[in-house]
Amino acid sequence: MNSDFVIGGQSLPKRSRSLVELPLPPLYTHSPLTLPVHVVRGAKDGPRLFISAAIHGDELNGTEIIRRILKQPSLKRLRGTLVAIPIVNVYGLIHHSRYLPDRRDLNRSFPGSEKGSLAARLAHLFMNEIVHNCSHGIDLHTGAIHRANLPQIRANLDDAETKRLAEAFGVPVILNSNLRDGSLREAAAEHGIPMLLYEAGEALRFDEVSIRAGVKGIVHVMRSLEMLPPSRSRRKTRPEPFAARSSTWVRATASGLFRKVCGLGQRVKRGEVIGLIDDALGGEEYEVIATASGIVIGCSEIPLVHEGEALFHIARFEDAREVAGQVESFQTELTPDVEPANNTRNEPPIV
Ligand SMILES: [Zn+2]
Repeated sequence: MNSDFVIGGQSLPKRSRSLVELPLPPLYTHSPLTLPVHVVRGAKDGPRLFISAAIHGDELNGTEIIRRILKQPSLKRLRGTLVAIPIVNVYGLIHHSRYLPDRRDLNRSFPGSEKGSLAARLAHLFMNEIVHNCSHGIDLHTGAIHRANLPQIRANLDDAETKRLAEAFGVPVILNSNLRDGSLREAAAEHGIPMLLYEAGEALRFDEVSIRAGVKGIVHVMRSLEMLPPSRSRRKTRPEPFAARSSTWVRATASGLFRKVCGLGQRVKRGEVIGLIDDALGGEEYEVIATASGIVIGCSEIPLVHEGEALFHIARFEDAREVAGQVESFQTELTPDVEPANNTRNEPPIV
């Protein structure tokens, strides 16, 4: 790649930080709308990494992860270019919605087209201005509404460079996932761009462990791309993450009130009771049985279910016991001692 970085018709010099606002179709209220893109350029040429969040407009952990990444003092020593898009689906975010106002899923609308639907146009803009300008990408997601995910990387492990970055990210669980039709990851792969998808936490909520793991993961990937200098602390080497062999969903066998008997990151055995569904009128009780042995990497957070709804996502591993142990120490390490709201700002108490 040559050393110019042109976005939105502007050429951004090396050793600069810019906020570029790419014009989007306005709201019907006549309010103008833009896609804000932060571009941090180092003094030297190097990889061009984009990090994107809220492609699903209700998935907010990634937006907070990007806010914290942009405050990292080590960016002063950046090699290459960091392109950060904290809110891709601006329309959805306004309505706390995963979708666009035309009810399309942006992550099924790539690579998009100039004359297509609203979703297709936004996807097309993102491809032209961001993906075509970059050499690597990380897309940040959470579970869908009322679903929580254990921090995990989803990536195409058949590609050597993608696998290397997935392992560098440093969360204990990696899912080798096939590309979904119309996803940003698929469209980027077609341009030969290695991409990771980070999934952690729940829609419309901040989860501190997921956010911290995401910030650390991005820094680790940037170090492994030599965009940031190596860590100076001589801490123990990180344990190798585990790649799941496959995963499966456990679905509700009845409708009613749902209670979990096990949580995220826990090891379960095939045939074990992992949840209970009660008839809302106090009648029958139904057991939710694990259909596979493995680790719970996703679960429903709402106690109301209809028969057939997905309740638990279980990933199968060669050695689930070892994974469970590592997930536990990972979570302990990242859990804040004090709730962050109490220690990040010393605001006077409301009296
Ligand atoms: Zn998502």
